[in-house]
Amino acid sequence: MTDTFSCDVSIVIPIYNEEENLPDLVARVGEAMEPSGFSFELICVDDGSKDDSARVLRDLAARTDWLKPRYLMRNYGQTAALQAGFDGVQGRYTVTLDGDLQNDPLDIPALIRTLESRSDINMISGWRKERQDAAINRKIPSMIANRIIAKVTGVRLHDYGCALKAYRTELVRRIRLYGELHRFIPVLAFEAGAKIMEVPVRHHARTKGVSKYGIDRTFRVILDLLLMKFMLRYLHRPLHAFGGAGLWMGVPGLLICGYLSVLKLFGESIGGRPLLLLGIMLVLMGAQLIGLGLLGEILIRIYHEPEGRAQYRLRPPPED
Ligand code: UDP
Ligand code: MG
Repeated sequence: MTDTFSCDVSIVIPIYNEEENLPDLVARVGEAMEPSGFSFELICVDDGSKDDSARVLRDLAARTDWLKPRYLMRNYGQTAALQAGFDGVQGRYTVTLDGDLQNDPLDIPALIRTLESRSDINMISGWRKERQDAAINRKIPSMIANRIIAKVTGVRLHDYGCALKAYRTELVRRIRLYGELHRFIPVLAFEAGAKIMEVPVRHHARTKGVSKYGIDRTFRVILDLLLMKFMLRYLHRPLHAFGGAGLWMGVPGLLICGYLSVLKLFGESIGGRPLLLLGIMLVLMGAQLIGLGLLGEILIRIYHEPEGRAQYRLRPPPED
């Protein structure tokens, strides 16, 4: 992890089956960035596309010196693709957007200038004030999801889902994406101590290719959110979560069993007492929960090993 940057801006774009969009995308990034005066690189991460995206990328990169593609072994999903891009950034600032031209690269220079002038802000999240997607299966579920996320996490944004975001690269290096967490980057960033600002950005309808997601995503978002809330709270100390509950059960259980043992010692019959059943159950459940907490601690250790958290594997450029 180095703090020397070789350019001003690294633009990261996850790519899955966007062969028709890639030439325009790369051209538009160039048109937006070249006159801006910022030095930049474009890291397009091919997420195991089934179409010709990888080859198209390779050919574009052969004649575009700022285009640095990365190719994943298979389709790992948008989150892993983003992380693969993050792991390669060399710029002082990192920008993400989608590969389908719904976000407008022309917004990038202004976001970077805002980050430059506001040293108190670590991250800017785009806000699709005029979102160009179908209302019924996209905008309305998102609106509900945004409200829930804001409520549950306490990070108040209008639009978590906008892919167009700009970061100081130091922040990018402090967060680690896994599972489906790309949707909650602002929350992860907030947990990492970042100050986040929301800025309205342009948004266009997708004209080529198809969206990779449907309405079932909203439900998965809610499940992920609950999981994340739990993880953020207990990620580092599962023993505290499970072990605490284990002690609350195990200790009364032991007391009950101890009490019954004393009665037994003094010759009383303890058979047929519901209390006996309760005592034994509490001891067993408590022991299991503590065991689960210990197991969690081991998992956390493994998770923090660099090997254990590799979310993807790279492959060389396609040969033809
Ligand atoms: N994407 C990806 N891997 C996937 C699915 C999507 O890298 O498994 C990319 C996709 O190419 C696009 C971005 O993630 O650049 C967002 O996907 P899409 O436009 O389909 O999502 P939507 O805008 O409909 O939410
Ligand atoms: Mg899209």
